[in-house]
Amino acid sequence: MSSIDIVVPCYNEEAGLANFVEVTNSVIAEIPQHNFRYILVNDGSRDRTYLVMKQLAEKYSNIKYISFSRNFGKEAAMYAGFQHTTADYVIVMDADLQHPPKMFPDMIREVVENGYDCCALQRTAREGESKFRGLFSKWFFRMQNALSDVKMPYGAVDYRIMTRQMVDSILELCEAQRFSKGIFSWVGFNTKWLPFQTVDRELGKTTWNFWKLFKYALDGITSFSVAPLRFISGLGIIIFLAAIIYIIITLIQTAIFGIDVPGYATTLMIVLFMGGIVEFSLGIIGEYLGRVFIESKSRPIYIIHRTNFDKEDKH
Ligand code: UDP
Ligand code: MG
Repeated sequence: MSSIDIVVPCYNEEAGLANFVEVTNSVIAEIPQHNFRYILVNDGSRDRTYLVMKQLAEKYSNIKYISFSRNFGKEAAMYAGFQHTTADYVIVMDADLQHPPKMFPDMIREVVENGYDCCALQRTAREGESKFRGLFSKWFFRMQNALSDVKMPYGAVDYRIMTRQMVDSILELCEAQRFSKGIFSWVGFNTKWLPFQTVDRELGKTTWNFWKLFKYALDGITSFSVAPLRFISGLGIIIFLAAIIYIIITLIQTAIFGIDVPGYATTLMIVLFMGGIVEFSLGIIGEYLGRVFIESKSRPIYIIHRTNFDKEDKH
């Protein structure tokens, strides 16, 4: 009999949380050979998620909750959940039932019987999603894989089961700006990918918007790769060489044909072009500098407001 902790980050999930627990419980009831426990993490919800959580914890003894002092983001919520796990295996999943709990038996089989360290889910189709967002995420995955050493398959979602050993390794990466998809693959270990179809969010609504996704993509690229910095070095070298060639041509022109070069348009173009390149490069450097700045403060990743964890709580 193994113990399994289910980590669930929750942000404004008052509408669906009780239903999530009911549905998941009905799946767990079919797997009596393992001992399940929930770790619900309330990520500073603005609605009554905390109260729903507390009531659920009173109703079911295998529900533990952690409630943050404010919204720290899903990454922080997952990290807090992982830090509180003590089980042999840890599942992480969303609270909105877009990650179907009925996959549990298949996932558990891969790690318990087939010797994998992790079994993660990969989305095959995302119905009800806007074309634009679909395109954007495809583009993001391509960029990410091309630029960084950390490879992840297209459609990878944060729904997975991992061994204690892998969770402990993940916890050793204690950076403040966490990008879990990259971290999961950075730590290595054998991962089995299972395809699944996401379903529409039943209750509540997604908190992601385009700007958040863009930031997320940028985080993903800058946390695991310095390729953009290399790119601007390369660009610098190319522009430098082009400049030398242009200088030589202009010098020869001036020497042979005199100073009769009406260079207004070229000068303007070069100044504007260079201005653009310099701004762009500064932006990239600033992106990395900002990350160094935040990381150097080593602030806590989250702050707990309320919890029903005791010091001796062990699964
Ligand atoms: N979530 C969170 N903190 C946040 C945003 C989201 O803990 O700041 C949780 C949310 O409650 C859900 C999961 O992360 O359990 C995924 O969020 P959502 O369903 O909004 O994202 P999507 O399914 O669109 O990727
Ligand atoms: Mg969702």
